[in-house]
Amino acid sequence: MKRTLGLLLCLLMVFAALAGCAQTADTPDPTPVPDAGEQTPDAGGEEEEAGALFTPGTYTATVTAMHGPLTVEVTFSEDAITNAAVTSNVETPGVGEIAVERIPAAIVEHQSLDVDSVSGVTITSAAVKAAVEDCVEQAGATADDLQPYTPEPAEDMDLTADVVIVGGGGAGLASAITALENGASVILIEKMGFLGGNSIVAGGIYNAPDPEEQDYAEFPGSDTLVEEILAQEPVSDLHAEMLEIVKQEYAEYQASDKTLFDSPTFFALQSWNGGDKIGDLAMMRIMCDNALEGLEWMESLGMEFQPGVVLASGSLYPRTHNAVMPNGTGYIAAFENKLAEFDNYTELLDTTATGLIMDGDKVVGVNATGKDGNTVTLHANNGVILATGGFAGNVELRQEYCEGEKWPDLGAHLPTSNMPGVTGDGIFFARDAGAQLVNMEQIQLLHLCNPTTGATYDITETDLFINKEGKRFVREDGRRDEISQAILAQTDSIMYIVFSADYAPDPEQAFSLGGMSLQYMLDNNVSGYVAADTLEELAEKIGVPADALIQSVEEFNSYVDGTATDPLGRIVFQGKKVETGPFYAYPRSPAVHHTMGGVLIDEYCRALNADNQPVPGLYCAGEITGVLHGGNRIGGNAIVDFVVFGRIAGESAAAAK
Ligand code: ADP
Repeated sequence: MKRTLGLLLCLLMVFAALAGCAQTADTPDPTPVPDAGEQTPDAGGEEEEAGALFTPGTYTATVTAMHGPLTVEVTFSEDAITNAAVTSNVETPGVGEIAVERIPAAIVEHQSLDVDSVSGVTITSAAVKAAVEDCVEQAGATADDLQPYTPEPAEDMDLTADVVIVGGGGAGLASAITALENGASVILIEKMGFLGGNSIVAGGIYNAPDPEEQDYAEFPGSDTLVEEILAQEPVSDLHAEMLEIVKQEYAEYQASDKTLFDSPTFFALQSWNGGDKIGDLAMMRIMCDNALEGLEWMESLGMEFQPGVVLASGSLYPRTHNAVMPNGTGYIAAFENKLAEFDNYTELLDTTATGLIMDGDKVVGVNATGKDGNTVTLHANNGVILATGGFAGNVELRQEYCEGEKWPDLGAHLPTSNMPGVTGDGIFFARDAGAQLVNMEQIQLLHLCNPTTGATYDITETDLFINKEGKRFVREDGRRDEISQAILAQTDSIMYIVFSADYAPDPEQAFSLGGMSLQYMLDNNVSGYVAADTLEELAEKIGVPADALIQSVEEFNSYVDGTATDPLGRIVFQGKKVETGPFYAYPRSPAVHHTMGGVLIDEYCRALNADNQPVPGLYCAGEITGVLHGGNRIGGNAIVDFVVFGRIAGESAAAAK
């Protein structure tokens, strides 16, 4: 039987381009064929002997994988593959690299190309296999000459622990560690072949008021944002109490020599306000009060943050901490390292929860299915934590719930920035167990996405945004939903982000959150990045009128240096003009990014029923919950959410609170 890996890869890549793609992070414009012509034989020159399977030697092949070229090097003896490794690739950190490590090792171990793809990383898996198959052919054999490999099917399982956790993203992992630290035994299941969920491809940004980093930082315009919040009329006793606290804190700040104000209470008011006051202010206060402690807890697990704070796009205030490692990989690596220290922890990958086990109205376990269709039955002595994320990856559900006026159509034409496992499963398990769902219609689009794939991450997120007419059309420091709506109203629903050497003086040293350098993205046509020495040339390259672009840049620069006020209302500037060439631009469109609605929980992360009473035995944390973010999840708050409430859920479930 002729192998069809090349065709499979081809189909997968076309599918990825159409469907918004399983693996995320920024991508080159899709090239739906493997680069089969790029093989570089490096045979040892030995002739194949009669009866030998391979011509011994080392061979290389390069294919186009998920995000760009991927090269393998394979060494053969006369009758075996003795070594295989991916020698270069640009796959998604923490995701594609799992296939890059696992697939070559499995091929050598089993002497077969029939090894399993990593679920959730199918495109990179297929690319690695296609490249190895190419080397097999260079060595004088075909894939059919290799051994067939059929792994033993997994057996049914019946296991018990104090706490059973569904979902291995940030919330599941944070809750697992906390439950273990509180003395509970834990079983965690994850439907993908790797941990991390959306959290691993998230921007990795973390908002927290942090006096050490903020007190003497300079962000012109930030005081206006504080005054805007303080000018609001209280709508509840809690709101009034919190406004009063911030007024006093702000007065103390104004009497000091500090240059930037912030506080947990201001952070909470701003986040709640930024979500249209739809979320629960008391829950937001819990998150914001615990944000800095959560950050320090992450650091205690080995997570590293860059020094200083920035104003990340959609974060509304300069309190965002950037991770050192790309995307969310640093958080997941820190969690995995910590979990390895515990004996009473069991982790089952490729295991999909199908429902909850009930004893009357009490949740006592989880029914699941293993990779081979085997039955996995998990009993929980103390409680079950659902941490299965949101439903941005589920087109049917987002269409069912999408908010009529705000997003008239969230159909398949709109890509998602999410991972394939994020389909809302747990939300419906919780509902079936009696939990209340709230704010399901609150769905967030992110404006910083690859127009074709929905993948995210940029060199800069808040420089100059222009439309196809070369004009600014929205304040770049605004809310994600407002920017997304504004882009959808522009020609072709697209914008360009324009920046310059003022922001990125050395393109080799300017990295996207995904870890690729600007120079790499320019060289490999990643996501449409273009460079030009002049603004006229840049305008030509992106097809916008040069005079309009030049005028937009001049006006923008006058807002940055404070000689004029932005009529579109931008307040906070990072102090970077667009003045010195080279000039850069790349296209961006909105993609479905976060679902703010979900399970109603209380301050202990207990799922609440229709009477606002806890569903016994059921806890939820992370994007599955629906009570926190309201109409708009603030950029940089999702990770704070999973750290703070993941820890609370772990503690509550361990104590059967
Ligand atoms: P959060 O930020 O809330 O932790 P993530 O999206 O990072 O959310 O993680 C959710 C995880 O839950 C993903 O890794 C996803 O694959 C996993 N998941 C979703 N549904 C199931 C299910 N039915 N069984 C097991 N794991 C699931």
